[in-house]
Amino acid sequence: MLHPDRLFPSDPTQRAIARRLYGEVAALPIVSPHGHTDPSWFAQNEAFPDPASLFVKPDHYAFRMLYSQGIPLEQLGVPRKDGGETSTDSRAIWRLLASNWHLFRGTPTSMWLTHAFETVFGVTERLSAASADRIYDQIEECLRKPEFRPRALFERFNLEVLATTESPLDPLVHHKAIRESGWKGRVITAFRPDPVVDPEFEGFRDNLAELGRITGKDTATWDGYLAALADRRLYFKSYGATSTDHGHPTAATADLPRAEAEKLFDIVRRGGATANEAELFRAQMLTEMARMSLEDGLVMQIHPGSFRNHNNLVFERFGRDKGADIPSGTEYVRALKPLLDRFGNERDLTIILFTLDEDSYSRELAPLAGHYPALRVGPAWWFHDSPEGMRRYREMITETAGFYNTVGFNDDTRAFCSIPARHDVSRRVDCSFLARLVAEHRLEEDEAAELAVDLAYRLAKNAYKL
Ligand SMILES: [Zn+2]
Repeated sequence: MLHPDRLFPSDPTQRAIARRLYGEVAALPIVSPHGHTDPSWFAQNEAFPDPASLFVKPDHYAFRMLYSQGIPLEQLGVPRKDGGETSTDSRAIWRLLASNWHLFRGTPTSMWLTHAFETVFGVTERLSAASADRIYDQIEECLRKPEFRPRALFERFNLEVLATTESPLDPLVHHKAIRESGWKGRVITAFRPDPVVDPEFEGFRDNLAELGRITGKDTATWDGYLAALADRRLYFKSYGATSTDHGHPTAATADLPRAEAEKLFDIVRRGGATANEAELFRAQMLTEMARMSLEDGLVMQIHPGSFRNHNNLVFERFGRDKGADIPSGTEYVRALKPLLDRFGNERDLTIILFTLDEDSYSRELAPLAGHYPALRVGPAWWFHDSPEGMRRYREMITETAGFYNTVGFNDDTRAFCSIPARHDVSRRVDCSFLARLVAEHRLEEDEAAELAVDLAYRLAKNAYKL
């Protein structure tokens, strides 16, 4: 099912160059500096239970499409947080995916799943209502074998390093278990402080109290709160973290005088913040996090512009991360100015900017990253982690920011078996982009070959200090 020339240009000259470039990178190890796989998989190394639990239940790309066509999330086995009933019949869930496989035509989800079915499980027929049970049985049989356990797959995927993402309140027990197990796979954490820096995050006040409890700091005071955050950052560093991650609704930053910041903290801590005060607090916290990054060396990622939990009903029944996050327009030039006024010229600070608003690539992000030493542009993200999204990204970024103000690829996934597929798509699309530049005599092929390795491997290692 996987054509060896998939995603390469159809023009024969460019295709031949793309093939040669891809030959240089196809077998490189995978560096996965940002994502959301579950560290317990690698800590416990238990077999994945069945095909639906592996491919459907944890993958919001899969179930959001099915939901959009009227299939209830309960039927897809997505757990309800209100305790309501949800399907536990994995084969029935799988049949739903299979009989609706046509919905994924032309989408990256279809490419990723097909890649995983074929390269990981040896499936050579297309998923459909008719093949559903055969493919289910084939994958299930594989999953019972030791070579399909999480650690074995990690090694087979040639993962050099895999970062997960945790809240500052997470005790990192799984990372501890991985470390103590003696297994050589490098699974590291990343520090995602949204639950304790976003006053609108569920349970924010309780989260502050918990942050105080686990650090022994007084999080009822501004100084104690900042000290607690610095403390947790160091704890995360001790479990391999090299980065922080900030998922704010906007890219707003602020640099308030100390007395004002203190006063604002007092308001949000008591739970009475207005929407504007909450936004200003998040903005201030991005600047505080940048300051701490300069001290402890953690690379800062800003992932703004997602309107989280847009569907109230889905949020109330199922909670976060259920495919109901919708991109919105994002402004960076004015929003980042306070932070950049303070830290933009620091050469020892790396801030990686992501966007769900492609308009900002050429107008804002490439010019910003093409100037400020502290800034880099992160890869095409989420809805744009797709062949067309990656092409648009290179087309809109490169002429202003070049390649070396970008940071390689992030798979940013919860779906473990999609990791090799996603990196392969990125490598093929980048090689195709480079092939066009070579064919148009804008780049020599030896430069393109070096760039192909940089984009697939070296830039991510360097930018994320891995
Ligand atoms: Zn992410």
